[in-house]
Amino acid sequence: MKRMLDQAASCTECGVCLEVCPTYRVKGEELFSPMGRMKEVKKLLGEKEANNVSSESLNSCFGCLRCEAVCPEEIRIADAVFAARSELVKRGVGPPEKQKMAIEEVLTCGNAANGDPERRLDWLPEEFPGKESDTLLYVGCLAAYILKEAAASAYLVLKRLKVDFMLLPDEECCGTLLYENGRIDLAHEYFLKNLERFRSLGIRRIIALCPACQYCFQHFYPRLLGELDISICHIAEVIASAPEIPLKKVHKVITYQDPCRLGRAEGIIEEPRKVLGCCGAELREMKERGKEAPCCGAGGGVRMVYRDLSLQTAYNLLDMIETDSIVSTCPFCCFHLNYASRKKGLTKKVAYFTEVVRDSLEVG
Ligand code: SF4
Ligand code: SF4
Repeated sequence: MKRMLDQAASCTECGVCLEVCPTYRVKGEELFSPMGRMKEVKKLLGEKEANNVSSESLNSCFGCLRCEAVCPEEIRIADAVFAARSELVKRGVGPPEKQKMAIEEVLTCGNAANGDPERRLDWLPEEFPGKESDTLLYVGCLAAYILKEAAASAYLVLKRLKVDFMLLPDEECCGTLLYENGRIDLAHEYFLKNLERFRSLGIRRIIALCPACQYCFQHFYPRLLGELDISICHIAEVIASAPEIPLKKVHKVITYQDPCRLGRAEGIIEEPRKVLGCCGAELREMKERGKEAPCCGAGGGVRMVYRDLSLQTAYNLLDMIETDSIVSTCPFCCFHLNYASRKKGLTKKVAYFTEVVRDSLEVG
């Protein structure tokens, strides 16, 4: 906590981060900016009695890291916010009720999508033999239960590329929700359970479909459990590095949307574009792309609590895109942006990355 207080205390209030923050863009109030949040963190972590702290300011941060990319002091703003959320929990004022319910769901059902664990592999296009491999295709809750086309297409593409992998019929949530919403105690237990399971199965590599799962394994797990002996990657990296991709060009004009935790956090920006180019896509880039890409408004547990803020953030992103056809490498971005597009009466549709690759493989 002291480290995070020091981080927040190093804010010089230069204001550079205001205009890039998606919540400040919607609200126009300092309280909903990175700078405002650092002031709240300082109050909360620096004072015993901090009754004047705005939990709304802290709980409405998407953790999109956009601010960190511009902060001249290199403050770990999102981490400071997450640390403050755990302090709110300790003081009995968090997490918000809806997040508590979602956390309960993860603990009881093992997923964050309200799905029936018995039906976790319903998306599988064929009988999958219980198979051993040191590579796990980690599907994630949203793709397994809601965006089933994302899961099915990822599976088929990897098979066609002859990537050796296994699946877990009883895969459990990565647990990012517990960590980000201040339940570090539960996150620790949950992460450990997952990690011990992976180790007992001899897993050495995880291929994630969702950048949030990838980020959680890559950053949150080591923070609580020490360095991992398992390498983590995103499926876009695997496909981009496949020796020969037998893809046929299917011409379409699309916009590729960089998910915050893949583009900005991991620097995986050109790989998906390269693959989409091989599929025949003509890319229309957004003005803000790659490390500067805007957040979709779904992350950080905000979508379930501050629905209007989350939706308006998605509308702002959709407004920046000229094409109707959009591709994302994040199932959660796909889900949220499609929801926002329908809600606003737009004709924009967001497909998951491997759906495009699968279509190209099928033609070939
Ligand atoms: S992480 Fe994103 S939402 Fe949170 S303060 Fe930074 S820019 Fe704003
Ligand atoms: S850019 Fe960094 S130092 Fe400047 S106001 Fe924002 S958080 Fe503070």
